[in-house]
Amino acid sequence: MDDTYDFKVFADQLADIAQWASRKGWAPATSTNYSVRLPEHAAPAFCAITSSGVDKEGFDPAQVLAVDRIGVPVNGCTLKPSAETLLHVMLYHAMGTGAVLHTHSLAAALLSRSAGECDGLKFSGWELLKGFDGVETHDCEVVLPVFPNSQDIPALAAHIETRLPRTQPCYGFLLAGHGLYVWGKDIATAKRHLEVFEFLLQCEREVRSHGYPANA
Ligand SMILES: [Zn+2]
Repeated sequence: MDDTYDFKVFADQLADIAQWASRKGWAPATSTNYSVRLPEHAAPAFCAITSSGVDKEGFDPAQVLAVDRIGVPVNGCTLKPSAETLLHVMLYHAMGTGAVLHTHSLAAALLSRSAGECDGLKFSGWELLKGFDGVETHDCEVVLPVFPNSQDIPALAAHIETRLPRTQPCYGFLLAGHGLYVWGKDIATAKRHLEVFEFLLQCEREVRSHGYPANA
């Protein structure tokens, strides 16, 4: 069994995602964070995550660090993990997922303030819903829960953990006035889920602002 792993591969993938999200305009003012689960044999390292307060436009893979199962840096690393690391760690434990991406797009920030907690946003009838793992038709409904924002990240993680949908597929959530969290079984899947949600949020924003275009 191959029990080696190359941390730089994961760091490079996260740097690519961070730079890509910045180019999309989804990572203003050093915000947002990105992580990926590491192999079991990397223990005590549990996941790789972007460090705190770094501009994402030219994000350097050297600004990625490994944290353990409770979000503490390993191997004596002095980089400061994202302030929201505990939300990532919670999602790995609660959802058994492989990668977590968090963005601050305009559409996510705006729409997150218009939906009440628990009800969240509901998407149906869009072809792009098929970009979510396990969805094979536009004729379905995907819920994006909305939770109140907080600077108390441990309390926020505990609050969300008990309220995430468990009986239906769930691919992400919004924090009110803050941004979007999405996840997937690996970075490529999480990236695809992020693109789907951002597209759907833009559609929802357009429809709320202008309605559907009139038939020509
Ligand atoms: Zn954030």
